[in-house]
Amino acid sequence: MFMRVDKLQADLPAPKEKNPNAGAALQELLGGKYGEMSTLGNYMFQSFNFRSKSKLRPFYSLVASITAEELGHVELVSAGVGMLNNGPDGDDISDGGDISGAPQELMQDIRLAASFLSNAGGATPTDSNGRSWNNDFVTTTGNVITDLLHNFHLECGARLHKLRVYETLSDPTGREVCGYLLVRGSVHAHSYALAIEKLTGVDLKKMLPTPNIDLSKIPESQKYLDEGSHRRLYTFSPDDYQEMKGIWSNDDVALPGDPPGNLEVVVGMPDGGKIQELAGQPNVFTPNYAPEEMYEIAAMLTKKM
Ligand code: MN
Ligand code: MN
Repeated sequence: MFMRVDKLQADLPAPKEKNPNAGAALQELLGGKYGEMSTLGNYMFQSFNFRSKSKLRPFYSLVASITAEELGHVELVSAGVGMLNNGPDGDDISDGGDISGAPQELMQDIRLAASFLSNAGGATPTDSNGRSWNNDFVTTTGNVITDLLHNFHLECGARLHKLRVYETLSDPTGREVCGYLLVRGSVHAHSYALAIEKLTGVDLKKMLPTPNIDLSKIPESQKYLDEGSHRRLYTFSPDDYQEMKGIWSNDDVALPGDPPGNLEVVVGMPDGGKIQELAGQPNVFTPNYAPEEMYEIAAMLTKKM
């Protein structure tokens, strides 16, 4: 599996303004119990620990390829948090300016003060209250049905808290993160339902969507539905994981509330979108660190390369 440098899995619109409390709400999707750190951590260790990998190849391929996607989701939410915490991208500020007048006074009252004071507006693996993501959120039982059932629950739980976070946000950046991830989470819940159905005959699809709010109610999800994202799983690899076509199969169709069409496995990854530059801000690091000198060194290194 691989990750693409300099591209996010979706294109995020610029934030309207600097809004660290919106960034804090979005942190729930990163380090909350049902956040992207949890889906990544669960599927990663389940795929590492997977038993009978050759004999159960389609199930192993499903979990391993979704692991790659979740890594990209961690990156996407982190980018969204950074954008909300920092505001619209601007030019690098080349000098620290006058810091004697408390230029960051407003940062005293943001919900996650450490996101500014320790992390300079960057994302960290914590929830919306700043509690650390914790590995107790990882379930790897050694039993494939129990693990898949857990993953189905995890994706439904993730959908629940994405809807709640979405309802708190007015900023386009945070809403887009939720709109995209709600579509992808729906695909993952659907794929685990199909995997369990193949193994047991139980039709878990009848429980979807859980909670019972259609993607058609979320304007930010519409372009992803129009392009068929709700019908696609990606291999995130040129050669591996294509055995999951046996589970996410062209013979199966989209969920009843979504635009109709056949399911498909796409070799590779989504087209994705631009990654934010995040301007340099000497006054929140240390004054007079001479950024122009560093840019000059970087330019020389780039040329040498
Ligand atoms: Mn995800
Ligand atoms: Mn997922």
